[in-house]
Amino acid sequence: MASVDADVAVIGLGAFGASALWRLAGKGVDVIGFERHTPGHAYGSSHGGSRMFRTACLEHPGLVDLARLSRDLWRELETESGQDLFTASGGLLAGPRSGHLVPAALAVARAHGVAADLLDAAEVRRRFPAHDGLADDHVALWEPGAGLVRPEAAIRAAVEVAADAGARVYADTRVSAVRPGADHVSIVTTVREFRVRRVVVTAGAWLGALVPGLSLEAVRMPMTWFAARPEAADDFHISRFPAFIRELDDGTCLWGHGTVRAGEDVKLGLEDGGSTFDVVDAEVLDRGFRRADWAGVGERLPAAIPGLEAVPARGEICLFTRTPDRQFVLGRPAGDPRVVVGGGCSGHGFKHATGVGEVLAALVVGEEPPLGVEFTDPARFAR
Ligand SMILES: Cc1cc2nc3c(=O)[nH]c(=O)nc-3n(C[C@H](O)[C@H](O)[C@H](O)COP(=O)(O)OP(=O)(O)OC[C@H]3O[C@@H](n4cnc5c(N)ncnc54)[C@H](O)[C@@H]3O)c2cc1C
Repeated sequence: MASVDADVAVIGLGAFGASALWRLAGKGVDVIGFERHTPGHAYGSSHGGSRMFRTACLEHPGLVDLARLSRDLWRELETESGQDLFTASGGLLAGPRSGHLVPAALAVARAHGVAADLLDAAEVRRRFPAHDGLADDHVALWEPGAGLVRPEAAIRAAVEVAADAGARVYADTRVSAVRPGADHVSIVTTVREFRVRRVVVTAGAWLGALVPGLSLEAVRMPMTWFAARPEAADDFHISRFPAFIRELDDGTCLWGHGTVRAGEDVKLGLEDGGSTFDVVDAEVLDRGFRRADWAGVGERLPAAIPGLEAVPARGEICLFTRTPDRQFVLGRPAGDPRVVVGGGCSGHGFKHATGVGEVLAALVVGEEPPLGVEFTDPARFAR
């Protein structure tokens, strides 16, 4: 066997990669991490200050256990790093009784024993007055264990704890190719070529460029922040305007949450099934924030959440990586067994990042993962 620089390399230290690096280093694995920017940066899928965490994962029933594992690991990361990474606000999923959001979330919560209460519209308006525009025939699922994770801080924390445990981190180092050879895998970087035995590729919107054949597309997604009208400002503290997704009568969903610290604006976005988001080349992403990026949210606010100004205070552009079935790709793609991938977040992956890191760490060292994630098998699109 040729000499190697490390047993395992992790390429891309964003949400999934930073967690994989942390879990590998914690197992005592000789691991090296590469990140083309500085961990916690604003050029991938993991910036903007917050991501919603919930256990009622209507995207796939198999995600409920992954969310539970991830919640435990978020606590562990907080303990190990000494940082506050999770805001336990509770979470609200609201909308029509027969819409696509609440019935699906309720079914998952009941089937998997997720602690959650069904609230009628009057109760929602009483407890969360900023949702004054909720129609009488809408309902909401209240999950007390839901909340917000702080993405940039969480990524930095995972990388720092991993480095303390022995991981070697190459920041600001772009990997241009991953080449499996006869007795090692070559990682070609801007610094030099590294040799490792196995590799985890977690390059987010760039994953498809390093590992072809995964059926991934990068999607440009704006994030917007709105100021509360002065007379309604108290209604938008996180305690009264917790993390939420709200389906409107036109089938679109508003998502967001209130302010955690004084002086912040209220984060809100629109999910419309993807029709207004552009599929892009992540390498040449247009990061300009334009009227078309906020018009859809702004035009819905006066009726849905009237306490907010309808023109945003600011906006930023983010990216997510979509698969045809909107599930992740975790595992070995068809091809070399030494290559494990983690990606295809499809807009709902951050909450699961710590659990995904644990799964990827187990897979790459040949251990049984802590839970079954067959529905995320990257080879499914090749079949
Ligand atoms: C606007 C928005 C809102 C979202 N809201 C939620 C939410 O509320 N809840 C939720 O659970 N999820 C949410 N998501 C999804 C979640 O943010 C993603 O699932 C998650 O951030 C994806 O992480 P990742 O590790 O795949 O990608 P990233 O975090 O982007 O990490 C990929 C990393 O790889 C690096 N990289 C790429 N190419 C190379 C290379 N060649 N060499 C070295 N490094 C490289 C990149 O720089 C980057 O740091 C949201 C996504 C968006 C865009």
